[in-house]
Amino acid sequence: MLESNLISNSAQRPEPRILARADHTISRSLISEGALKVLYRLSNGGYQAYLVGGGVRDLLLGREPKDFDIATDAHPDEVRELFRNCRLIGRRFRLAHVRFGRDIIEVATFRGSDADSGEEQDEDPDRVIKDGRILRDNVYGTLDDDVWRRDFTINALYYNIRDFSVVDYVGGVADLQAGRLRLIGDPERRLREDPVRMLRAVRFAVKLGFQIDPDTLRPFATLAPLLLDIAPARLFEEVLKLFHGGYALQTFEALRHHGLFGLIFPLTEQELAEEEGGFPHLLIAKAMASTDQRIAEDKPVTPAFLIAALLWHPLRRRAAVLEAEGMPPLLAQRTAADEVIAQQIALVALPRRFTQVAREIWQMQGQLERRQRRHAVRISQHERFRAAYDFLVLRAASGEPVQEAADWWTEFQSGDENARDQMVTRLDATPKRPRRRRRRKRAAE
Ligand code: ATP
Ligand code: MG
Repeated sequence: MLESNLISNSAQRPEPRILARADHTISRSLISEGALKVLYRLSNGGYQAYLVGGGVRDLLLGREPKDFDIATDAHPDEVRELFRNCRLIGRRFRLAHVRFGRDIIEVATFRGSDADSGEEQDEDPDRVIKDGRILRDNVYGTLDDDVWRRDFTINALYYNIRDFSVVDYVGGVADLQAGRLRLIGDPERRLREDPVRMLRAVRFAVKLGFQIDPDTLRPFATLAPLLLDIAPARLFEEVLKLFHGGYALQTFEALRHHGLFGLIFPLTEQELAEEEGGFPHLLIAKAMASTDQRIAEDKPVTPAFLIAALLWHPLRRRAAVLEAEGMPPLLAQRTAADEVIAQQIALVALPRRFTQVAREIWQMQGQLERRQRRHAVRISQHERFRAAYDFLVLRAASGEPVQEAADWWTEFQSGDENARDQMVTRLDATPKRPRRRRRRKRAAE
């Protein structure tokens, strides 16, 4: 299949459509200073230099790009010679990262038509170099080789810094206008080549409000399980883009709709499937919505919070089983946490620094629910108090019977020292003691 594609690409390559400066809306004033410097320095050095990918796509849509990617015919070593502030990354396809303060501009050399294996730069480096000998030297290519290995037509538009034109080989401009997300080439082959493109499709469709083209979408149903072969570390990177891009809630719904969510979060999906319309769906949806809102307000977000939400109900279910088998509650919760995290990281490599915080958020739920008089102040000073409190509020909002505790902590935080003292004293006087005492005894086990 690759051969036939190569023939059609090289023997009868289509002519690109060129949009002159007057025919599109990209203005240099919208491109970051760093990206412009890189484009001009490459160009002045005698190389071709194009803005490509999401930067061009977003500018043509009148949106603010997240970052700027640049494509050139300069080889990575030649790029490095032009820029002091430059680092080469990757093995098989080396990319140059040029840094301007906090801004990092990614410069990729055009890839040859043989280099068509998705974004896995480190994949199988010895296909090219073995025992120090170069077996194949067609890793790099020209612009019209580079176009065909990109994923979607709208991501394969090139803005030429020489004449400010946009080069379109794949009908990307028409697809942008139609709001259509379409894979370049044969969809099934492109999805087999890199199944992560299914996740990317959903992410872009949601973010841009585009429809996934029916031909692109059709193979999803059969190819979705290929996601299980993707390296867990890469899936974590992708999960972050899915849920920390500002559209977590819609993306989550769309991933479920397309049958992709359950492949990467099977424990969560199982809960959702069993209790559709009940607590779990609400909890996760609310966690996603709150993440989106924080991003919209430029507040920091942590993956730990989403991990805590995604695995909360699987954790509770497992802990209940262990308790029924006779394990003490606190140990059951800890054991269940170990188990659900172990199962999840086999698929998505959630880093330990985040799963650890998720564990603490879970652990503190019991303490927050109990509101022990002696410990209230200490709990409120705990490093994870705020995250754990937010999580408690989320649980209350999603229908779990913890509203009273959530309100109590809300009031506790808003009061001054006196008010807090009074609240704690009142706690002591509330006639709920037998239950609290039983719990406290358990907690001491
Ligand atoms: P954004 O940065 O807004 O998420 P983007 O389109 O710039 O979107 P990147 O992941 O930054 O996405 O990739 C830059 C470009 O590299 C893409 O536009 C696409 O042309 C190409 N690309 C990225 N990932 C893949 C992939 N898995 N398969 C093929 N091409 C890809
Ligand atoms: Mg990008």
